[in-house]
Amino acid sequence: MESVIVAIDGPSGTGKSSTSKAVAAKLGLSYLDTGAQYRAITWWMITNGVDVDDADVVASAAGKPTIVSGTDPSHPTITVDGVDASGPIRTQEVTSKVSAVSAVPEVRTRITELQRSIAASAEHGIVVEGRDIGTTVLPDADLKIFLTASPEARAARRSGELKGADVHATREALIKRDAADSSRKTSPLAKADDAVEVDTTQLTLQQVIECVVTLVEEKRAAA
Ligand code: C5P
Repeated sequence: MESVIVAIDGPSGTGKSSTSKAVAAKLGLSYLDTGAQYRAITWWMITNGVDVDDADVVASAAGKPTIVSGTDPSHPTITVDGVDASGPIRTQEVTSKVSAVSAVPEVRTRITELQRSIAASAEHGIVVEGRDIGTTVLPDADLKIFLTASPEARAARRSGELKGADVHATREALIKRDAADSSRKTSPLAKADDAVEVDTTQLTLQQVIECVVTLVEEKRAAA
């Protein structure tokens, strides 16, 4: 079967990760969570005493950590300097600081190179999820999807994932992070002109997965 590259972008809480993993597993593709890479570099900065609000210091440290992503959709992994980072990258502290770190151009250059080399070496193709995959990282992707959902739906989903976190506070934090990600100068969160937009507000996860699988199959059939 032809190798296929699928870019799935969108703000937080739209179901990107669950959808991307399931689509990759169903179609026998690799899977890359690029948010986890930005979280991993942020976690490294925090644990190494780097002031994440000082862009110059973050820029000069950007090349130091070694970040390795495992791309099996049924068991995605991430290590930083050989240490499993999958738990620590999900803390509130990392979530609140990741937008500042990911806005630094040197960080983006470093992580973008890593993402391109992972995508290029995926034998049967890959689903890559993030914010700037269709616009910047893989502008020649075979299929680009942009997932959206109302702020209320996104906050409700995230609060569910965080096991009962306050929906109002989650909504405010999401809106703040999206605003920072959308307004940064270097490769902001944006829909590529040739991306298919899927509003997931009224859809179940299963419906979103089926929709994306159908779009990939249509692309493959037309190729
Ligand atoms: O997807 P997730 O919520 O884990 O992403 C964490 C953060 O990583 C985002 O808020 C954003 O700041 C950054 N990110 C990015 N570009 C990507 C993926 C994530 O800037 N392609």
